[in-house]
Amino acid sequence: MNRETPSYYIYTWGCQMNEEDSEQIALYMTQMGYAPASDVSEAQIVLLNTCSVRQKPEEKVYSKLGELKELKSENPDMIIGVCGCMAQVQTAQIKRRAPFVDMVIGTGNLASIPAAIRSIQTLRANDENGENGNSTQSKSGKHRYNTLIETSLPPRKGAIVTDVPLRNLMRPPKLKAHVPIMYGCDKFCTFCIVPHTRGRERSRPTEDILREIRGLAQAGTREITLLGQTVNSYGKNLAEGRVSFARLLEMISEISGIRRIRFTSPYPRDFTDELIESMARLPKVCRHVHLPIQVADDELLQRMHRGYTVEQYQDILDKLHTAMPDIAITTDIMLGFPGETDEQYQNTMNFVERTRFDAAFMFAYSIRPGTKAAEMPNQVPHQVKIERLNRLVELQNSITLEINRSHVGEIAEVLVEGKSERNSERYTGFTSTFKTVHFPASENQIGKFASVKLNEAHLTGFIGEIALETPS
Ligand code: SF4
Repeated sequence: MNRETPSYYIYTWGCQMNEEDSEQIALYMTQMGYAPASDVSEAQIVLLNTCSVRQKPEEKVYSKLGELKELKSENPDMIIGVCGCMAQVQTAQIKRRAPFVDMVIGTGNLASIPAAIRSIQTLRANDENGENGNSTQSKSGKHRYNTLIETSLPPRKGAIVTDVPLRNLMRPPKLKAHVPIMYGCDKFCTFCIVPHTRGRERSRPTEDILREIRGLAQAGTREITLLGQTVNSYGKNLAEGRVSFARLLEMISEISGIRRIRFTSPYPRDFTDELIESMARLPKVCRHVHLPIQVADDELLQRMHRGYTVEQYQDILDKLHTAMPDIAITTDIMLGFPGETDEQYQNTMNFVERTRFDAAFMFAYSIRPGTKAAEMPNQVPHQVKIERLNRLVELQNSITLEINRSHVGEIAEVLVEGKSERNSERYTGFTSTFKTVHFPASENQIGKFASVKLNEAHLTGFIGEIALETPS
């Protein structure tokens, strides 16, 4: 990087949607003439893209802000911005706890980041010229202008506008890419902050999505993951008329160059027979579904406002297995929802034992201020939640390992992605069923599909060897 080139640094917490937003922010920064800094201390602009879904990532943000306060005292010209979900719902707390932050930008307003940066720079330049009367002097003698730019207005319902050609032009070519197809959520589960931080459900126009994916395919992308808070609810309220998620999968399948299509996370209530039929018929759609259940108890599901019963969820799984016997199913499970009894907890444990998910993302309920569940009586004590979680993790891990072991000896198609992070002699890829495989390969095999024999099973995946390389 040229030493003269101003630079930025982005911290990202949370889901893939946030990672995607960070990529979008990076595009804005590139457009403004900034380059990515290799170290935060070199950056003129530092942005924290935050997550509110649980308490832990929020604590990490405040702790990171504490570190940045030190850096800013050495470099008063640094611009620090907090964006994402915390910025949307915690503007007042951020202002109080970190008054040195220069801008707070909510999830619906990322496009205003360049304008906010320019405003801060103008204010500071005027300050240097003595045109502002309320500036303060830093220890180093430099001016520190602490006017806060705030654009954390509630995300608006309406059309999603993305500059597709720009996104495609500026993104570095990648084998795998995430493509957001909808934003926000209308489900209002009682434990979840997302509808409050990301606003109501809005779908991107189908042609924008297809154009973006065609561009990615031309640039070498072979696998795409469609993103949305409830990704299979896609297509309502579109100006061009309703387009079902199943239909969208069909249209994407027709794009040459794209070899694999994934999506996350679907919502059980919107998992239609039409979608299952399309998945089974379209070979590019991967044999993996991550279908959050949360708990396997009808009374809890009702109080969570999830909109399905255990039986209805089971019915979807049965249909998926019948249509695609080789499909892998993973899920989200939340323990310790307010009022969860031992018996209800046991219902979830029994369901996990019976259903045998390939893997699960398991976590303890944490209170999210502003949600209905935060006000519910009978909050489960922390220690009880942790004990329940530990027992579930132990059970699920043993199931995952058993399932992985049952695949040893099979040959799976894997997209060779690059060197393994843990062992420089191995390369890494994923199966269609979203299982990691590490295997010896060479640099020129990156980007190609290979048939890999699964020799050794672990909790997190497999060690294998290439049996046959298939054309890219
Ligand atoms: S479906 Fe429920 S858990 Fe998922 S984002 Fe929407 S409100 Fe949150």
